[in-house]
Amino acid sequence: MTIKAVIINKLDGVYTVASGNLPVSELMEGDTLVRVSHSSVNYKDGLAVTNRAPVVRRFPMVPGIDMVGTVEETAEPGLAPGDTVILNGWGTGETHLGAWAEKSRVPGKWLVPLPKGLSAEQAAAIGTAGYTAALCVLALQDAGVTPAAGPILVTGAAGGVGSVSIALLGALGYHVIASTGRAEESDYLKKLGASEIISREELSGAPRALGKERWAGAVDSVGSTTLANVISMTRYGGTVTCCGLAGGMDLPSSVAPFILRGVKLVGIDSVMAARELRLRAWDLLDQKLDRKLLAEMTTVVPLSQAIEVGAQIVEGKVRGRVVVTID
Ligand code: NDP
Repeated sequence: MTIKAVIINKLDGVYTVASGNLPVSELMEGDTLVRVSHSSVNYKDGLAVTNRAPVVRRFPMVPGIDMVGTVEETAEPGLAPGDTVILNGWGTGETHLGAWAEKSRVPGKWLVPLPKGLSAEQAAAIGTAGYTAALCVLALQDAGVTPAAGPILVTGAAGGVGSVSIALLGALGYHVIASTGRAEESDYLKKLGASEIISREELSGAPRALGKERWAGAVDSVGSTTLANVISMTRYGGTVTCCGLAGGMDLPSSVAPFILRGVKLVGIDSVMAARELRLRAWDLLDQKLDRKLLAEMTTVVPLSQAIEVGAQIVEGKVRGRVVVTID
């Protein structure tokens, strides 16, 4: 028996990505079989299908770091056939076959239940990018950054992490400053909840050790010079959450903001995050993410278009989130 899947292979040093049929016998170890209904296109999936960075660690690989589907078989306590579940990360699409396939076999402990207020498509629309945005917002809240503390900057604003961050922060009453390289997306970003838009260029120059104090907190998915500038312009005692590298992996910063302004830099990892934190993030999304805004930022494509969208996301050409329908 075979299932439809996108398959990445490397034979004799040649990297290939194509739609195909995967024998069910090749599904990986795990006590739970999921019939996948939806996945999404994340930046990491884009890196995998373009081979821009070595995110794929075994071959063959199925990309797709987000999975929403129905349990078909399970030995995991607390799970039963028929349950609708979400999986984000845990190495899927990297070391474990991912969700751009009709079925997936995974350890049941990787799965969280679909929150009552969300549909399967909405959960995939949120996906890793949105759940990471929620982790960033929780980190700001946990650091005591309240709406009264001052504005929050969101970089890579029109991307997936950026879009969901703006919608969540706006709903929580924060004054959001969105930084984007796409001025044409200003109306979209304001609709999501941004109060101010600044150009990506404002954060692209050589970073000063200490800049003018502008924001009380930040969600940064860009890294590199952008993150260094963000840190240097953070107000006394503020908190910057760092989750991405769309602009590069380096960090040409100085210790000055940390030792002279008590600025905190908080790293955010969604892949191996503990179950309790995942449940907190999904609860925040269920409670606070406006469903109309989620629809506004979502595009839906069939599995046959996922590879093409993966190539677009690493070019910074995708707005918001892209759901992949598998059924
Ligand atoms: P997207 O591609 O949807 O968004 C990234 C955005 O960054 C783009 O839309 C663009 O926004 C901006 N951008 C792109 N290239 C550059 C550049 N060269 N310089 C400055 N800005 C740029 O990706 P996601 O939002 O899904 O992910 C963003 C980052 O976060 C990725 O690096 C991803 O790997 C990482 N990530 C990390 C996670 C974790 O667990 N730590 C989980 C999820 C994502 P605009 O056009 O508005 O400027």
